[in-house]
Amino acid sequence: MRIGIDLGGTKIAATLLDQGGGERARHRADTPRDYDGTLRALADTVATLERQAGVAGATVGVSLPGIVDAAAGTVRAVNLPWLDGRAFADDLASKLGRPVRIANDANCFVLSEAVDGAAAGAGVVFGIILGTGVGGGIVVDRRILPGANALAGEWGHTPLPWHRDEDGPPERCGCGRDGCIETLLCGAGLARLHARRTGEPLTSPEIAARALEGDVRAAATLAHHADALARALAAVINLLDPDAIVVGGGLSNLPGLYEAVPALWGNWALSPAPRTRFVRARHGAESGMRGAAWLWPPGAR
Ligand SMILES: [Zn+2]
Repeated sequence: MRIGIDLGGTKIAATLLDQGGGERARHRADTPRDYDGTLRALADTVATLERQAGVAGATVGVSLPGIVDAAAGTVRAVNLPWLDGRAFADDLASKLGRPVRIANDANCFVLSEAVDGAAAGAGVVFGIILGTGVGGGIVVDRRILPGANALAGEWGHTPLPWHRDEDGPPERCGCGRDGCIETLLCGAGLARLHARRTGEPLTSPEIAARALEGDVRAAATLAHHADALARALAAVINLLDPDAIVVGGGLSNLPGLYEAVPALWGNWALSPAPRTRFVRARHGAESGMRGAAWLWPPGAR
């Protein structure tokens, strides 16, 4: 039995899975705004799930939106500032009387999809989240590849490759640099692209809706966005050559995305017809807690 907890800035969502990934219990709670309260709420969550399922001693994994220093057992999360600098992994393990694994939520998303989601069966999985930002992560043989600096998969903050004039001038990114992939591929980037092409101030959901209604200008903006995504992913294919690329986040539902991008990425990848699968995430908002549950490999305890 395995427990996965998605610890967010306002909500805790948790699941207890059996060996096959079936859900045996589920629990939600508000996130307390202080350190000791958060530890207590997590301990309550574990106890509640085990009571519901009639089990004891489940493994515990935690997903959170921040940078996890696995060696030090500390985390830094903008939405959970009271965890800063604390020995969170050790303190939670003491409270629960068992070891705990903690990972970044983007990595948990990729793990969830690699184990029993849209990329199940793929050995090397690159997962991307296209939403208000552009995040990513890498899973190899059902294990997260964190990287020496906990940065593996942070592809959104690399430069958009094979620049085209119609991409426009490089935009300032939230990370402080110019021309990051995120600035063009995130939701606001899609809206900026459409505004520059047409003068129409539309949000990304409005652009998607208009394209579905047959609006040729919205469809052309989506084609440009897909072209930029194909270029950005061709660079990933050349570097990592994943078996599958799985897409989550609000923009994972853009119309035509899963046909357009694989039809284009061979124009830049060194292979003219990459075999990489390009798929939409299956688990949606549940991927954080499900991936956290899978932080412990089968038979770990
Ligand atoms: Zn950036």
